[in-house]
Amino acid sequence: MINTVIGPISEEDLGVTLMHEHILVDLNGINLVEKTYTTDEVVDFVLPYLIDVKNKGCSTIVEATPFGLGRDLDVLKQCAKKSGLNIITCTGAWDGFNVRGKGVPKDIKEKTIDEIASIWIKEFKEGIDNTGTKPGFIKMALGDEGEIFPLQDKLLRAAIKASLETGLRIQCHVLNEPCVKRVFKILEEENLPFDNFIWVHADAKMDVSLILEVAKKGMWIEFDGIAGAESFEKYPPAIRKIIEERLISQLLFGQDSGSFKIKENREENKNQNMRPYATFFDTFIPYCVKEGIDQEIIYKVITENSRRALTLI
Ligand SMILES: [Zn+2]
Repeated sequence: MINTVIGPISEEDLGVTLMHEHILVDLNGINLVEKTYTTDEVVDFVLPYLIDVKNKGCSTIVEATPFGLGRDLDVLKQCAKKSGLNIITCTGAWDGFNVRGKGVPKDIKEKTIDEIASIWIKEFKEGIDNTGTKPGFIKMALGDEGEIFPLQDKLLRAAIKASLETGLRIQCHVLNEPCVKRVFKILEEENLPFDNFIWVHADAKMDVSLILEVAKKGMWIEFDGIAGAESFEKYPPAIRKIIEERLISQLLFGQDSGSFKIKENREENKNQNMRPYATFFDTFIPYCVKEGIDQEIIYKVITENSRRALTLI
């Protein structure tokens, strides 16, 4: 069974699944004590986009926003109920960009690896904050300043522990090569099977030789910058190479689409508009097909591969 925000479903019911989307993001992280939005306001804003992508054949959206980045189960549940999409939420922590722990709750920061892991394991076993909702994966974001800080190292090791205990995969945002390599070292030190690990934003730098090296080790490669990409040019050659090397079964697609922005973030992100969830179907697939990528392969990635990546290990 797979956990969605409104309850478990069978793996067979996942259907077409996009692996990395956002409904509500709050970059003020945990510093914002009180909500400055209402659930209705968010749902009213995103619902037309969700219904649009559902009408285009998508059944499931993986919502990659952990606690501290704005995970709001009430919003996600309403969106799932009203759109009919399966929405999958996560446990874990986010320390991307240059926020230096701003999105990580203070009581998590002070805890040991084992204590942090046990909080995330509890969310999986008992549900998040008495809501009964359980996560479908572990989200992690680190290394954007070129090194893995001690807090990030600790969080990753806690994520590994939680993954080993729960069978949830880790979706880890990591961008530059030295940090990617450092992360792999940590996975090895902690004996995490590489199949438990999804490299999020592998398309950001699109270093094809590194991508192939990583996939050959048995890790998942996620191309998930599609909604924000200025052009799709870099995708077909990389996908072709992955097919050629017989590594296509380890590729995942997401878009980093969305999202509703809270008032405090709207000013900072004036130029970043809503990235529609249907971009994948409206423009990405047609572009790839025009460039000679078999549509059947793309659908295999967003159905079979997504399903395997969300199935508990
Ligand atoms: Zn994201």
